[in-house]
Amino acid sequence: MTRADMLIVGSGFFGMTVAERMAELGLHVVVIDRRDHIGGNAFSEPDAETGIEVHRYGAHLFHTSNGAVWEYANRFTTFTPYVHHVYTKHRGEVYPLPINLGTINQFFRSALGPEQARQLIAEQASELNSEDAADLEQKAISLIGRPLYEAFIRDYTAKQWQTDPRELSADVITRLPVRYTYDNRYFNDRFEGLPTDGYTAWIERMADHPRIEVRLSTDFLDEGHDLSKSATVGRLPVVYTGPLDRYFDDVEGPLSWRTLDFEREVLPVGDFQGTSVMNYADPDVPYTRIHEFRHFHPERAYPADRTVIMREYSRFAQRDDEPYYPVNTAADRERLLRYRELARSERDVFFGGRLGTYQYLDMHMAIASAMSMVQNRLPEALSLGGV
Ligand code: UDP
Repeated sequence: MTRADMLIVGSGFFGMTVAERMAELGLHVVVIDRRDHIGGNAFSEPDAETGIEVHRYGAHLFHTSNGAVWEYANRFTTFTPYVHHVYTKHRGEVYPLPINLGTINQFFRSALGPEQARQLIAEQASELNSEDAADLEQKAISLIGRPLYEAFIRDYTAKQWQTDPRELSADVITRLPVRYTYDNRYFNDRFEGLPTDGYTAWIERMADHPRIEVRLSTDFLDEGHDLSKSATVGRLPVVYTGPLDRYFDDVEGPLSWRTLDFEREVLPVGDFQGTSVMNYADPDVPYTRIHEFRHFHPERAYPADRTVIMREYSRFAQRDDEPYYPVNTAADRERLLRYRELARSERDVFFGGRLGTYQYLDMHMAIASAMSMVQNRLPEALSLGGV
């Protein structure tokens, strides 16, 4: 093995940000990933038949209001001016998301102005006080009232989480704002765009550093190689971004995760749905949404007669499935506390990222959290020796 001062387990945004920052500080960093490609779930690749860039693990949209994260990202890629919009199908009609004045007026067959709409929704939401809302269902009803909740949130959430919405954290829904204007930008953030040459090119540029070595198809939790858990922990600082429960061999019981299944299809049409993401709000459709990748890059010369779509299905992750979303029920939160306790006593191992902290982090949050780890927690690790 080449000299390593630090091992990073996982080459997603969290791991690669730590790797790049630490390499810049002068450390020799080895990054391992059990998959045969870099980038974690942000990985994208050209579809073999059409050349259309496909996000293999579901659509990834970059957005942030954090100026430092935006500046950092722009060191490795430029961004297109793409602005994300999502529509949803409900009982044979298409509505704009997030819920806005357009959605409200279409749903109630009305022509309300902002103040009238606010009043209507306030009346419908009056059964609950937003401050007291303890779970996803209460939070949603307190924000948008029961009729809109039942149309656009209840059944989609049931498909996405298969968990009683009263068991889910209110935070999940606060990701989706309600607007009393016709603005249907999906994200509120100051900065938004897609990496001009794709996600994989962006992450490869982060890895392209003389002090970073990336080893793929190398599973930290498999023994029998020189970068396994038992060969490295205690010998050099380790940043671990895999699932927190798996690191500890599920001793406290497994944390529950949702996984996604994707059904990719090339269709002989130039445009299938006229937009990049269409949600399916009703329970009779088994998938949650359809992505049509050509719409992420309207500036590219893609074939005019073929398009790639991907239907997304959500289910509970079994032992060997890829974990995507922490379910975060009350039982999970209790287990999480015990895992955090174990993590604290694990010498020179730093847990980060969506899987390593069991938190629903977006890409920009993973980058911000990695930057903060490098600033605040890793300097102590620098005093350790390397192997
Ligand atoms: N959600 C919903 N209906 C929709 C879109 C989202 O009920 O049409 C809820 C659902 O519970 C989902 C959450 O809002 O899990 C967050 O949605 P977002 O689109 O931000 O999720 P992601 O893209 O990360 O899966």
